[in-house]
Amino acid sequence: MKLSLVVPCFNEQGNVPLFYEAVKNDFSAAGFDYEIVFVNDGSKDDTAGELKKLLDGDIPVKIVNFSRNFGKESAMYAGLKEAKGDYVTIIDADLQQRPAIALEMVNMLENEPEYDCIAAFQESRKENGLMVFLKNGFYKTVNKFTDTEFMQGASDFRTFRRPMVDAILEMKEYFRFSKGLFSWVGFNTKFVPYIAEDRATGTSKWNIRKLFAYALEGIISFTTAPLRLPVYTGILSIIAAFIYLIVKIVLRFALHDPITAESVIIFLLVFFAGAVLMSLGVIGEYLAKTYIQTKDRPIYIAKEILTNEKEAQ
Ligand code: UDP
Ligand code: MG
Repeated sequence: MKLSLVVPCFNEQGNVPLFYEAVKNDFSAAGFDYEIVFVNDGSKDDTAGELKKLLDGDIPVKIVNFSRNFGKESAMYAGLKEAKGDYVTIIDADLQQRPAIALEMVNMLENEPEYDCIAAFQESRKENGLMVFLKNGFYKTVNKFTDTEFMQGASDFRTFRRPMVDAILEMKEYFRFSKGLFSWVGFNTKFVPYIAEDRATGTSKWNIRKLFAYALEGIISFTTAPLRLPVYTGILSIIAAFIYLIVKIVLRFALHDPITAESVIIFLLVFFAGAVLMSLGVIGEYLAKTYIQTKDRPIYIAKEILTNEKEAQ
């Protein structure tokens, strides 16, 4: 199998037949084998029924019906796992991402062996100003706090070579933030601009609350910096306490200003608040290490291993 199209679907009954037809049209002249892996993410409409009809068509189709809605991240993981292709494309069911672009991505990978992934990104967004502002703000924040690079406007609409798919599947963490995972596994990604179409039918599943939770997930999955925060505030608090103490002592000797019980209490309060914060930060350091370890990410990912050894006979 040359190409697998992985399609997460949540309440897409109207789009499923349209998507199938679009793929059939666009890929008729492709000249290679391909399959479509639909992941029905616990749709409440008749997506399952529409998908089942496709089993009678001529394109190889695989359907994974989830027992409930697990979210697009889980759907993408399931799709990647079931995909058999040498190339794998993740594409939405709503035709916002034209299947013809997937074909172009495959051609790019064929002609440019230095790349392992072609990712589409939106140069300009059609959404309203606030949404664009929030999304751009997210990319700035996340890039500042994490070592993993997040390309602004990059979508999940990507085509991978098989080794990269296998690397992504090795990341078995439960709380998945794929945009980060795609970047974390390494490999060479080429970003190409695309224009998102309007949804064919139905409505977007995103709203501000969901996007905010998703953004938070992205930050928490890829950085433990917040756990370190108390160390810094603790140090600042201790420094402040000592500056206060020194000022009080200087005033005592220079101006014979008496050191009152009140000032001693203020010093002790600020000092111990700092000490407590600092020890919280120390616990945070250990927690961060444990947190990273529990993700059980691979220690390294080799892109290829070359040898001149003769294979054992
Ligand atoms: N999707 C999914 N599970 C969800 C939400 C969305 O599988 O819980 C699918 C959805 O069917 C679509 C894709 O993910 O194929 C992108 O969703 P949507 O179009 O709502 O997002 P947008 O394009 O507005 O970012
Ligand atoms: Mg969409």
